Amino acid sequence: MIFLLLVLVFFYQIFWLNNFYKEQSAKMEVDIMAAMKNADAKLRSFSQNSFSTENIDFPNYANLLQIELVQKGIALETYTQIIDLNRRKTVKSIPDDVSGISKGNSKSFIYPFDEEGNYAYKLVVKELQLYVLKQMTGILGASLLMIVLLFLSYIYLLKVILKQKTLDEIKSDFVNNMTHELKTPISVAYAATDALQNYGMMDDPGKRDEYLKVSKEQLTHLNGLVEQILVMSVEERRNMKLSLEIISLSALFQQLKNQYLLNATKNVVFDIDVTPEDLTIKADKIHFQNVIGNLIENAVKYSKEEVNIILSAKKEKEQILIKVQDNGIGVPSAALPRIFDRFYRVSTGNIHNVKGYGLGLFYVKTIVEKHKGTIKAESKLGEGTTFYIEF
Ligand code: ADP
Repeated sequence: MIFLLLVLVFFYQIFWLNNFYKEQSAKMEVDIMAAMKNADAKLRSFSQNSFSTENIDFPNYANLLQIELVQKGIALETYTQIIDLNRRKTVKSIPDDVSGISKGNSKSFIYPFDEEGNYAYKLVVKELQLYVLKQMTGILGASLLMIVLLFLSYIYLLKVILKQKTLDEIKSDFVNNMTHELKTPISVAYAATDALQNYGMMDDPGKRDEYLKVSKEQLTHLNGLVEQILVMSVEERRNMKLSLEIISLSALFQQLKNQYLLNATKNVVFDIDVTPEDLTIKADKIHFQNVIGNLIENAVKYSKEEVNIILSAKKEKEQILIKVQDNGIGVPSAALPRIFDRFYRVSTGNIHNVKGYGLGLFYVKTIVEKHKGTIKAESKLGEGTTFYIEF
């Protein structure tokens, strides 16, 4: 629809420019005819005779005509002749020999000067079209610029719309997958507990432990999923309010360390370094905890069987620098600038098929920025990743 409108505007412009060109040409032709008439009148004011081809001062006429043309602002290559209208023959010509001058693109103007109408001046103007077009360069340029600008805005518009559309699609995909994924752990955990309760599995310690383990795993997974949904809905609410409080960084790091050690499915070693020891930060406790928690979670997720995580914080010139460093699989440098994007996940190179929705870091960045802080990441493939947060 918009495209149709654009095409319409385009053709209207062409139509308008064409009309303008015709008008300009017509005006030019009127001017030239007027110049011929004026030059003739001036010539007559010097001599009383009625004109004939014999007594006419033709060179003088050609001169007067040139002056008239220049006065009208028409500076073009021309030649002037007297022609016999009956015999269609050139009688006189200035310059004498016009055979060498190409006739291409020229226009002739004829003005009869004797009473009988046998003879006429003939003015041949070369490249008149080009001249009119040249006078229109300003307006032509402006039109062209306008059309180009219109098309560029159209393309931009199209891009924005398409982007919006894919985002919408991703979102509905996400919701669909989520609903599906939420059901699975619920039914698995349900079946496991049901078996324990109703099929006498309690009596077999091996089976009992296995079923309890399955339930716990599924509930942990469910917890993760619910967290993702929470993260997403928090992000959606643009006017989210932070409730700021003073938080001790070493206490927070310690708490998170204990929490993740308890849940860890692999060998995780934490190093905590906060200087000064009693360093505090003013932040929203729950969100800030989630931020560091997410970074730790990623460090655990994107590593091999063992991972060393360093949590450090220090104060530098009224700024608090927090560092979360791991020696995991790292991020390819091409992907690094995009890891904070919504729904972005590094597709290749993950040794494990790690589950995720590409929301964690997006959430982290959103929260850090809401606290007027900045976050950046450095990474070397195969060596590890470091996240720097500055408040
Ligand atoms: P998710 O973990 O759900 O995929 P995130 O937004 O938390 O989403 O992370 C985006 C991507 O960045 C991940 O898919 C992963 O490839 C990469 N990534 C994040 N943290 C790390 C890390 N510590 N080490 C290596 N890769 C990471």
